[in-house]
Amino acid sequence: MKKALVTGGAGFIGSHLVENLLNDNYEVTVIDNFSTGNMRNIKNFINNERFTFKLHDVTKPFDGYFDEIYNLACPASPIKYQKDPIGTLKTSILGIINVLDLAVNTGAKVLQASTSEIYGDPLIHPQKESYWGNVNTLGERSCYDESKRVAETFCSNYFKHKNVDVRIARIFNTFGPNMQPNDGRVISNFIVQALNNKNITIYGNGSQTRSFQYIDDLIRGLRKYMSLQKDELSNKLTNENWNQVPVLNVGNSSEYSIVELANKILNLLPDSKSKIIYESLPSDDPQRRNPDIYLAKKILNWETSIDLNQGLINSINYFKNLKE
Ligand code: NAD
Ligand code: UDP
Repeated sequence: MKKALVTGGAGFIGSHLVENLLNDNYEVTVIDNFSTGNMRNIKNFINNERFTFKLHDVTKPFDGYFDEIYNLACPASPIKYQKDPIGTLKTSILGIINVLDLAVNTGAKVLQASTSEIYGDPLIHPQKESYWGNVNTLGERSCYDESKRVAETFCSNYFKHKNVDVRIARIFNTFGPNMQPNDGRVISNFIVQALNNKNITIYGNGSQTRSFQYIDDLIRGLRKYMSLQKDELSNKLTNENWNQVPVLNVGNSSEYSIVELANKILNLLPDSKSKIIYESLPSDDPQRRNPDIYLAKKILNWETSIDLNQGLINSINYFKNLKE
């Protein structure tokens, strides 16, 4: 039986990954400090004998023998990661060091949950893995962006110099059930606002774009990525002229403006009395974000399959049930 460690497993993405791994007969350990995750997300697994939960902070070392480590621990919502910027920096940086050191000692395969944020406010569209990004080291978002960039650099060097089998997934905006209703990210905010007949808060003029993937597509992509053997992955990447640590964008290639998103959600909830209002744009908010997924298609034979409307309907049903 394969053993997996999921750091941040009580969060939005982590809880879906844990469910998927348990369904695939893995023994799964979660490390989480419940800073943005919660018990509700993992309560269905608690009685599963193949599931172990450890209340622990990834900034402190941990041990155990695992075949696969998925490093997800880190707040992902801008509001949450900016609340304790130094804590966010430490989580991303010390967290990946602890994960990689454990992998050196045990031979575990590692997946690092990186992010489209490492491209900052990108100057090329769509963003390819070879693009270096446009990031403000001193801005409000830098505690997240820069620590995720440093984490990639740790992965690259442990890959080169300590032979760790690590894969970096640059995850683009993902949504679905198990997001926190007060998480602050755009889709959860708009749905919760619309369900409660509250104003829909668009920041700026809403022309900024994002590319939203539904959680099930992401989990399928991450699992495919980890299922490849090191040599197989490296051969496939070499054929695509990528000769460094494996890095793949994992996201939906369809791009929507935030105004379009707000209208889509209101169309799906025709009884809502919510009105759109415009608030100031947070600093360094990226204007456009859209993944080039050529590499993921080639290497994983993967692309998203669930359209935005279907994902929104599933998410609306989730938040409706939470209210009841
Ligand atoms: P989330 O906030 O729902 O989950 C993060 C989890 O990590 C939470 O359960 C939290 O309690 C835990 N955590 C945070 N700091 C910790 C620490 N120091 N020690 C132990 N546990 C800690 O976020 P998410 O959306 O599930 O994101 C998961 C990962 O995916 C993050 O690393 C994030 O950067 C990355 N990611 C997410 C998205 C997205 O759109 N959701 C996009 C790009 C990258
Ligand atoms: N946003 C918005 N209203 C909200 C929350 C977010 O207009 O209530 C905007 C935000 O300014 C950004 C986009 O929606 O341009 C996506 O924000 P989110 O926090 O979900 O993720 P980001 O991609 O910025 O990390």
